[in-house]
Amino acid sequence: MNQLSASQAIEETCSIVIDGKAFAKRLRGEVAEEVASFVADTGHQPGLAVVLVGSDPASQVYVRTKMRQAEEVGIASFQHLLGSETTEAQLLSLITLLNEDDSVDGILVQLPLPEHINESAVIEAIDPAKDVDGFHPINVGRLSAGEPGMVPCTPLGCLLLLQDRLGDLSGMKAVVVGRSNIVGKPIGQLLLNANCTVTTLHSRSRDMVAECRRADILVVAVGLPEMIGAEHIKLGATVLDVGINRIENAKGEKRLVGDVDFDAAASKAGGLTPVPGGIGPMTVACLMRNTLAAARQRSHTSVTGGGKTS
Ligand code: NDP
Repeated sequence: MNQLSASQAIEETCSIVIDGKAFAKRLRGEVAEEVASFVADTGHQPGLAVVLVGSDPASQVYVRTKMRQAEEVGIASFQHLLGSETTEAQLLSLITLLNEDDSVDGILVQLPLPEHINESAVIEAIDPAKDVDGFHPINVGRLSAGEPGMVPCTPLGCLLLLQDRLGDLSGMKAVVVGRSNIVGKPIGQLLLNANCTVTTLHSRSRDMVAECRRADILVVAVGLPEMIGAEHIKLGATVLDVGINRIENAKGEKRLVGDVDFDAAASKAGGLTPVPGGIGPMTVACLMRNTLAAARQRSHTSVTGGGKTS
């Protein structure tokens, strides 16, 4: 490849890349401005409580990032690091205290929890008005009914990136690979609410390649390194790679890859998120957005006396 075609290739790849990191930075900047005016108006600083049980290294990194970014946008952060021997009853007691604490607008319990703790019981114990992860059944129901509520951060990040890239999504054919409660299903629901025609694929789906190739928008949230190749992608499709996989090469060097083979997909896609630097940063930025939204909603309900939900 000569010099000119190499630079053309780089330019082409850059125009394909959907830079979630840059978008997330802008979003955090907007949230920071809105937090400042909220504090000026109400005298209340939004607060986010982050609870981690155990010492999973990846979870510790996520929690540190969330705490740091909260401080950066002017949200007070309260960290609760609990030992892996913490009982479900002890965790539920902490959640009750956080539900009642007026300085806390958002509660995030970092998942996964140790096996002896029932995840659903913990999620259901969180006040839906403070459920900034959007996992409480009430918020799941609101999303499904198309009503306002807390929307899970990763799916919300995906929607914002898609709308920024494509504008109105009405009528587009969206295929979501993965049907977990925290990623695949809510992404599908958000895209349906945005008037896409949505297909959800999972481990029992047939004709994966043919189904994926029909997509104008392909969102992949599976957790299998580079499972999606060029053959899955319609020319010009927009591809969001939610997967985060740590892989090791023959030399023992570790790196992060997504569920999409980036180089192969770049030859077909019209837009593509990288890993890292795509959906991951959007997830944390949307957590900040949700915490501000929770603070606004709670302050509104307390001012209007319309039945404070916390
Ligand atoms: P889960 O393991 O909960 O769900 C995986 C889904 O993929 C399941 O629905 C499963 O189907 C489906 N699946 C598994 N194998 C196949 C296959 N061969 N073909 C089609 N579908 C398949 O994972 P999560 O949804 O929690 O996470 C998915 C990925 O996203 C992970 O890599 C995770 O690390 C990443 N992630 C990234 C975030 C970010 O901020 N960027 C946030 C959250 C997650 P079935 O239901 O039939 O088992």
